[in-house]
Amino acid sequence: MLLFETVREMGHEQILFCHGKNPDIKAIIAIHNTNLGPAMGATRLFPYASEEAAVKDALRLSRGMTYKAACANIPAGGGKAVIIANPDQKTDELFRAYGGFVEGLNGRFITGQDVNLTPEDVRSIRKETKYVVGVSEKSGGPAPITALGVFLGIKAAVKSHWQSQELQGLKVAVQGLGNVGKNLCRHLHEHGIKLYVTDVDPGKLEEVKQLFGATVVNPKEIYSLDVDIFSPCALGGILNHETIPLLKAQIIAGAANNQLADEQIHGQMLTQKGITYCPDYVINAGGLINVYNEMIGYNEAKAFQQVHNIYDTLIEIFKIAKQQNITTNDASKQLAENRIINAKKTKINEIAA
Ligand code: NAD
Repeated sequence: MLLFETVREMGHEQILFCHGKNPDIKAIIAIHNTNLGPAMGATRLFPYASEEAAVKDALRLSRGMTYKAACANIPAGGGKAVIIANPDQKTDELFRAYGGFVEGLNGRFITGQDVNLTPEDVRSIRKETKYVVGVSEKSGGPAPITALGVFLGIKAAVKSHWQSQELQGLKVAVQGLGNVGKNLCRHLHEHGIKLYVTDVDPGKLEEVKQLFGATVVNPKEIYSLDVDIFSPCALGGILNHETIPLLKAQIIAGAANNQLADEQIHGQMLTQKGITYCPDYVINAGGLINVYNEMIGYNEAKAFQQVHNIYDTLIEIFKIAKQQNITTNDASKQLAENRIINAKKTKINEIAA
């Protein structure tokens, strides 16, 4: 891997290789862009097959965070950290050593909990640095605000796709009734939407059936239902060569991360089918908005106000995609890049003034 070549192509500002012997630690902190604010990105611990795979993951995910924060309209940049280790190698000392590296960046990078980290691990990191978010209990967790963002995204997609604000009577298929999916079902039910739901947990299915009168279907059936909207709220990679041909829904709007198995190929397949796809990192930004607000001092009203921006941002993205005949994914990247360039120009003008 040609490191500097790759980093220049992807536009990263800084990559930090963190190493220590006692405890034995190998971690990579990737700071993609700080034009809008400090780089925010959670820390993932994973037994990567190679160091190159770890670097690639950190680079790809940190760039994604830049786009996500820019689209969410919050003054934050994009970063990500990966610790190369097996979950059974986790210790308080390891996380404290890692926390020391985060502290050394003096606020240029702010982190939180991702794959294989528990709230307890995050508390270990916090012993060494204040630049950690998502450990506060004040907000009650990100799921309700994420679900509200997805609901607003559905409204934006309906407005753009059918030039309508009427939700009553629409049919929505929800895949996954976890923290976000169940909260989303509540919003949809309150607006007169007919729900079709699936999950691998029978208890969750029964609860949503009782609460919101949802029709329960088996996990394989969810893709081919004759519904208006499909809302993936469980797994990544579920929009692929097998599932896209089955879809009858006209809109895809859900919380799951990395829904497209391949961003370019499957984004294009959806566009060709005339489906309005809400880019996942735009519609599910409620979680990031929530941790950002925890960082600056949680104010529920302000956080919920910010999540309403998701509606306007998606309307803008759909407009760009239509005007330029590009996928909504490409349109959202364009919008994010424009916001970042404008922020840089403003900074330069302020310095010059
Ligand atoms: P969760 O773990 O609470 O819920 C996931 C649900 O999906 C579970 O009920 C699980 O049983 C179900 N599921 C698993 N495999 C399934 C399958 N094959 N078919 C149907 N259902 C299946 O997670 P969550 O917090 O509700 O998040 C849902 C998705 O949204 C995840 O992809 C997550 O990464 C993403 N996301 C969540 C947030 C948040 O604030 N929680 C923010 C951004 C993105």
